[in-house]
Amino acid sequence: MGVILETQGLSMFFGGIRACKDFDLRMREGELIGLIGPNGAGKTTVFNLITGVYRPTEGKVLFLGNDVTGLAPYRITRLGIARTFQNIRLFGNLTVLDNVKVAYSSKRRIGLYSALRRGPLFVAEERKVEEAALGLLDRFGIVDRSGELARNLPYGEQRRLEIARALAVEPKMLLLDEPAAGMNPSEAEDLIRLVQRVRREFGVTVLIIEHQMRVIMRMCERIMVMDFGETIAEGTPAEIQSNPRVIAAYLGRRATHAAGGQ
Ligand code: ATP
Repeated sequence: MGVILETQGLSMFFGGIRACKDFDLRMREGELIGLIGPNGAGKTTVFNLITGVYRPTEGKVLFLGNDVTGLAPYRITRLGIARTFQNIRLFGNLTVLDNVKVAYSSKRRIGLYSALRRGPLFVAEERKVEEAALGLLDRFGIVDRSGELARNLPYGEQRRLEIARALAVEPKMLLLDEPAAGMNPSEAEDLIRLVQRVRREFGVTVLIIEHQMRVIMRMCERIMVMDFGETIAEGTPAEIQSNPRVIAAYLGRRATHAAGGQ
């Protein structure tokens, strides 16, 4: 399998804060890699650098061999990288179906004239989008919720919908930012199965940030660990769990918390 995503010496400084330093990642097509680290380690910054939210202070992002460093987020999405956010970002006042339709529509092009006339081309296109969106919701087990407002869905289903919406743009790569946050153990269990299924059935490469260790250890074959902007370890779940630097990073933060620090 070829390399799909590569970051080279990716660094981001905010004034004096070193959010991410020399971050090097190579992902092969179809891989599922976990990115972990204590709060403020720089994980979301890495996602923001890959998806064009930030332009790195130094370093490069290569996607399928092309330099995509600092391209606008919508262009990166079009090239095939979709993401979800730490705080769910759905259109709460739109229906579940419309949330997915919006994402599908962003992928399709229809002339303004045809859209305003609501001509046959537009109607046919609308029908195609609706069928595709319903099909996707069906695969995610939430098609019976299509007509409900997104904000009325239980938490676990909102997360599910967010992932479905991300897949509507037919990405090659999916970045999931703490998808199990706030989930109870049974919802987290469902999520593990869902992500594994999505990876298999949609053929996407997945990079996932997650704080729930049980989730990350069960889901990923390779894990990268960050602390204070730097990569401090990389390896299999077993290697990571027994790595002294990783243990120290997590215990260190807890000790500082207990002492009343950050
Ligand atoms: P968490 O697990 O709590 O979400 P994280 O590992 O995702 O943390 P980041 O959000 O990437 O960490 O933040 C890394 C560091 O960079 C933190 O010290 C944070 O305060 C800082 N930082 C992130 N974004 C900005 C910004 N836009 N401006 C200034 N500092 C920032």
